[in-house]
Amino acid sequence: MASEKEAALAAVPSDAPTIFDKIIKKEIPANIVFEDEKVLAFRDIAPQAPIHIVIIPKVKDGLTGISKAEEKHCEILGYLLYTAKLIAKQEGLEDGFRLVINDGPKGCTTQLSGYLCVQRVTNLPSVDLDFKTIFAGQSVYYIHIHLLGGRQMNWPPG
Ligand code: IMP
Repeated sequence: MASEKEAALAAVPSDAPTIFDKIIKKEIPANIVFEDEKVLAFRDIAPQAPIHIVIIPKVKDGLTGISKAEEKHCEILGYLLYTAKLIAKQEGLEDGFRLVINDGPKGCTTQLSGYLCVQRVTNLPSVDLDFKTIFAGQSVYYIHIHLLGGRQMNWPPG
């Protein structure tokens, strides 16, 4: 399977049917954990935490991503969040959980870590830096919320 970065770079933002459209239509299988008339939630195929669930509305209504949201979508967006809370409870995530929405191919952050050392010979400081790009771009253009739990989450998210 492609890495998250490869999948996000390969994904083309569009209204075309996605893998989630096929899951809604039950054309491809999914490990469904919650379903009602408005939403469907299933386990992520490439989990990033012991519990990783994807929550989607049953009707896309142009919502390929959160950046496409209009006022008419407020009700379903609120309902998705409410459903996330119900599923977190169902999954026993009493100690906490995280909700994530990736948007667009550049949903990535660059983390900088490094240290300052003093060179013994010159006594001049030098900086040793390590740039690490944490790529978390959107790979499926069908609005979805990631529910992650079962481990300590980091901040800033990576
Ligand atoms: P995004 O990168 O925020 O767009 O998230 C898409 C998510 O869908 C990724 O975490 C994928 O692992 C997940 N995914 C892709 N295909 C499937 C599938 O067939 N079943 C369950 N999850 C999937």
